[in-house]
Amino acid sequence: MRAAVMREGKLVVDTVPEPEPGPGQVLVKTLACGICGSDLHVLRHVGRFVEVQERSGSPFTMDPRRDVVMGHEFCAEILDYGPGAQRALPIGTRVCAMPIILGTSSLATVGYANDFPGGYGERMVLTEMLLLPVPESLPTSLAALTEPMAVGMHAVEKAGPIADDVPIVLGCGPVGLAVIAALKLKGIGPIIAADFSPRRRALAEAMGADVVVDPATCSPYQRWEELAVPAGVDPRSALTLLGLGPQPRPGLIFECVGVPGVLQQILEGAPRKARVVVVGVCMESDRLEPSLGINKELNLQFVLGYTPEEFAATLTALADGRIQAAPLVTGTVGVDGIPDAFAALAQPERHAKILAEPWREGRLS
Ligand SMILES: [Zn+2]
Repeated sequence: MRAAVMREGKLVVDTVPEPEPGPGQVLVKTLACGICGSDLHVLRHVGRFVEVQERSGSPFTMDPRRDVVMGHEFCAEILDYGPGAQRALPIGTRVCAMPIILGTSSLATVGYANDFPGGYGERMVLTEMLLLPVPESLPTSLAALTEPMAVGMHAVEKAGPIADDVPIVLGCGPVGLAVIAALKLKGIGPIIAADFSPRRRALAEAMGADVVVDPATCSPYQRWEELAVPAGVDPRSALTLLGLGPQPRPGLIFECVGVPGVLQQILEGAPRKARVVVVGVCMESDRLEPSLGINKELNLQFVLGYTPEEFAATLTALADGRIQAAPLVTGTVGVDGIPDAFAALAQPERHAKILAEPWREGRLS
């Protein structure tokens, strides 16, 4: 089959072996697959990616010296079942699924494995028990956003009970936009969103951010103080710090940038007692001053992925329109154009989410 292949640190379009479904697996046609920022990172830092996974103790094996077909944000169509399958869904059903192959003792990620090609190829093998049928009314392009939007849902769930919080979303790429959508879904707000890119700020607004700031000209923490601190309360007074009298609403900061230095900036700018949820994937070492976090009693939470329940709930919310994700999709591309699409995504002014349609040829449009 045709696929965009990660080979020796480059992305090339080539013909690769057909995947074959084993027991408990299903063969699908990739209808659409979002190009993820993580894939851009992995292409650039594949050695480091694999090494850190190993050091994290992840049940994960990927040999970067062998071909990898990436792509984990997909909507697909059932073509065939492996031996001994339940066959609960008819051939031809459109499906989404967590990009995970469940083996007896191991676990592989579709799109980050040598033997399980991801959605930048024409066909994939998925786990039958993880398949979710896509409701008839939901377009394929929006169903393919289930995976990235579930990341936002999970980040918000991991923040804990947050009804009264005033959240700040730093970085309005696809991850930040997914967090904004999830906050909106839960009725949390006002949502403050910050990004240097005017295009991304416009997308943040379209996804439901209430206050959008350019951090080059306006501090998101200043805006937070204006919105979260009751009139007449001095957040730095001894009384307030001791928890006496009216208190500011809780601060909740989502780090959706993922570059070195951002965590330190958050420690500097965050209000006291704020919780910080780290969603952006920074693959480099970083430096921060813990005493800043100590003095402010900040809470730092790292998050990854989503649960099966969150994944299914995200698909349902997309289908019934409670998550409006259409503005996120800024382009589509055939299999031969995927390498160019990777290059285009490096420029935040032009694109947010590009969907690959590997069943066809065609440049980025
Ligand atoms: Zn992703």
